[in-house]
Amino acid sequence: MLYLKSCPRCTGDINADSDAHGAFLKCLHYGFSKDLSPEMAARLIGLPTAPVVPVVEPGQQVV
Ligand SMILES: [Zn+2]
Repeated sequence: MLYLKSCPRCTGDINADSDAHGAFLKCLHYGFSKDLSPEMAARLIGLPTAPVVPVVEPGQQVV
């Protein structure tokens, strides 16, 4: 997925992609790349993540 003018260094265009090592961002202008945490990858690229199970203490109200 391409993000226009999102590079933190040159405000150029960034491509978000993933490989065997995980997700990463790569600047199209000079090759700057940055690994993404699984959470960031899920938010940016939409990779599936484990479902979030809410932790409820005994006696706690579920909002
Ligand atoms: Zn850049």
